[in-house]
Formats: sequence, C-alpha cells, structure tokens
Amino acid sequence: MYFHGTSKVNQKGHLEIGGVDTVELAEKYGTPLYVYDVELIRNRARGFKNTFEKLAVNAQVAYASKAFSSIAMINLVNEEGLSLDVVSGGELYTAIAANFPPERIHFHGNNKSKEELEMALHYQIGCIVVDNFYELELLDQLCKERNQNISILLRVTPGIEAHTHDYILTGQEDSKFGYDLQNGQADIALEKALASKYLDVLGIHCHIGSQIFETTGFVLAAKKIIQKLASWNKRYSYFPKVLNLGGGFGIRYTVDDAPLSPSVYVSEIIHEVREQTSLLGLNMPEIWIEPGRSLVGEAGTTLYSVGSSKEVPNVRKYIAVDGGMSDNIRPALYEAKYEAVLANRPNDKVEETVSIAGKCCESGDMLIWDLPLPKADCSDILAVFCTGAYGYSMANNYNRIPRPPVVFVESGKAQLVIKRETYEDIIRLDMPLIERSVIETL
Ligand SMILES: *Cc1c(COP(=O)(O)O)cnc(C)c1O
Repeated sequence: MYFHGTSKVNQKGHLEIGGVDTVELAEKYGTPLYVYDVELIRNRARGFKNTFEKLAVNAQVAYASKAFSSIAMINLVNEEGLSLDVVSGGELYTAIAANFPPERIHFHGNNKSKEELEMALHYQIGCIVVDNFYELELLDQLCKERNQNISILLRVTPGIEAHTHDYILTGQEDSKFGYDLQNGQADIALEKALASKYLDVLGIHCHIGSQIFETTGFVLAAKKIIQKLASWNKRYSYFPKVLNLGGGFGIRYTVDDAPLSPSVYVSEIIHEVREQTSLLGLNMPEIWIEPGRSLVGEAGTTLYSVGSSKEVPNVRKYIAVDGGMSDNIRPALYEAKYEAVLANRPNDKVEETVSIAGKCCESGDMLIWDLPLPKADCSDILAVFCTGAYGYSMANNYNRIPRPPVVFVESGKAQLVIKRETYEDIIRLDMPLIERSVIETL
C-alpha cells in the first residue's frame, strides 16, 4: 500500500494523516468526510515555486482553484504565495471573500458572461485570459464604458492535446477553447487586441490537457508557441511579457500511475523555453504555470463508513459505503481509478477482492472495482486516497444527499474548513407549490 504525504499507520494500527488519527476524525466529524493533508499541499506548492527560483526564472505559479475551492483553501494558497486561477463568478467571489489579493487572480473560461467580466473589472484582477473573439469585443466594450484598462492573456491552442501517457498532434485543433495557432485566428486576435486602447496584451496562454505524465506535450507546445512569437515579433514588433503553459501535471492515483516531480516538469519546460528563445534571438518571457490536481489531489482522502454488502456468487462481492457519486463523481464520469484501505486496520491481511459501491440510485455509482481488502463490515471505516482534486468541487446533491464536510489536518491538529450540509440546506432554495389563481402573471 502506498501512503501519500504524511499518511502512515500509527501505534494504534490506525491510518493517521497530518499527525491525526483518521478513526478519531470519523468519530468527531462523521462520515463521509474529506480530509486534507495541508503539509503535502505546502510541499507541492514549494516544489513548483522553488524550482523556478533555483533556475532564476521569473514566474508565477497559479493554483487552478476549480480543483478545490473554499475560503480556507484560498487562504492557504495565499500563505504559500501562489497566484490563483478562477473560471467563474462563483470562484472569483470565493477568492475575494477569502481576501485573496486581486492582482494575483487570473480569470479563465470559454464563455464568461458580461456580469462576470464586469465583476473582474470591478475588482481589478491581475488578468483576464481571453478565449475568443466574442469575449475580446465584449471586454473591450466594457472597458470603454468604464474607461478602464485591463491586462489580458490570449489563450491559444497549439495543436497538441495531451492526456496521461500520450499526446496527440492535431493539425486543426478540435477544441472549444482558445484561438487556433495555425489557422490564422491567433494572429487576428493579437492584431485586434493590440489595436485596443483598453487591453494590455500581457502574454499568451495555453493548457494542453490533464493528468499528464510526460514533459513531451509541454515541450512541444512551448516550441510551437515560441516559433509563433518569433513571427509576431517580426510582424507586429510584439513580444509578450508572459508565457503561461497551463497545468495538467499528473498525480499518483494508483500503482499504475508514475508522475514526475514538480521540479522535473518545471525544469524540462524551462530548458525548452530557454533553448527556443535563444535559438530565435528572443528574450526569455516570464513563465506562468497553473497546477490544480497536482497541488491538492494526493492531499485529499475520503473517509466512509462501510454499510451493506451483496454477494453475487461466482461474480463479485459488492460493499456499499455511505457516500458515492454525490461526493466523488469521477469514477462514474470517466472511469477514474482509486486505491483504498480500512482506516481502522490498514495493516490487516487482505482476504478478498470486493467492489465498492456508493449509495446513490444509479448502477454506475461505483467508487472502486476489484479492491483487495480484509473482510469488512459495518464497524469499518474505508479511506479512499487521492480524492483532493475534482472531488468536493464536483460534489452534488443527487438523491438530496447533503455534501460532506472538509477537514484540514496538519501537525497533529484538525480544523473544520467546510461544514457538513444539513437537510435544511437541502431545501433552503425550495418554494412550495401555490394555488394557481394567486400566481401573478409576469
Ligand atoms: C483545469 C485547468 C488547469 C488545471 O488543470 P489540472 O489538471 O488540475 O492541473 C489549469 N489551467 C487551465 C486553463 C485549466 O482549465
């Protein structure tokens, strides 16, 4: 069994995270419960930042808050001196509510509304990552109305798509995001942006995929973009201050995953950017990256209580837990794989192979297929590892199940950072059906 970060088996033979006994956490806060190893998050953040510092490259490491956004999480990101990516008004609102410095907030998205752009202008955030022509014109117009300037990055698609172990070169990139680098769209976007009195084109952005285990895709993307920058330098006398190469650095969900360390991802990217820029006689731009999953994914563990079980003779044994696709939709959504142990006796001998089912009314509500476990019953707590990214942030109220609470653990202390939803919360926005005759017409 592989233990992430500060996770280990303590003297009681229980799973311990951040110096705190997970069985005690389950007793105190109930299950399901998300537990975050704060030290692991800090170490990852420092791993990225320190590598840039060692290589003497001006950089910003922006946490992609869609992976897990909450006030305390954003406080932590601020403590570690990172920047912050948001992709919606709600994420921006959370950042502002957490007193995150607006000048270090970057706003992404392929369909930002007028209200969201106005919100970003109101808070004078660091930059808006412009995705398309509609947004470019809308933003220019809003800035004009407000007589306000804003820094932007232009999001381009370099014709490379990377996922996990492989990357695909796509001539005409089929993506809903960004300006195509090859078909002339990116050139037109740059011309328009440079012509605007209100938009300051700080740089170029690309994000090639997620859960990537190699540096090939990043290196290729950097190369393609820098070649384009050389042509823009000649044609428009424009050279960006910032080159943002996005996120997508892989993590270890199961034994089959072999991610690289933050320092390897960063140093290989920097190596390529240095080589290409010096080859073409260009300046070294500031490099920004946007890790989401790799900062918080392995830091999260979900604790569940074991409940019912069902044996299908000669086929499999199902064991159900008190959560499921409502707190972790990734297995149902894209067959994501996880590992788990019994938190109250992680060292006990494996006795059978079981499949972990959720409690939602969907056959697809499975958390783990074919997990080796000791014989578990309702006195056991199941700890599912690596649920820190796109777990809580994708949690939902399917079957009107309240969302679980989130606890941060560090140096032997636990802190509740998101409360458990209650049944009152579940019906908070509901309105009763009223007599038709008293409904006012619009
Ligand atoms: C989602 C996203 C990220 C973060 O991706 P991870 O795989 O979580 O690292 C970074 N940048 C952009 C633009 C994104 O959409």
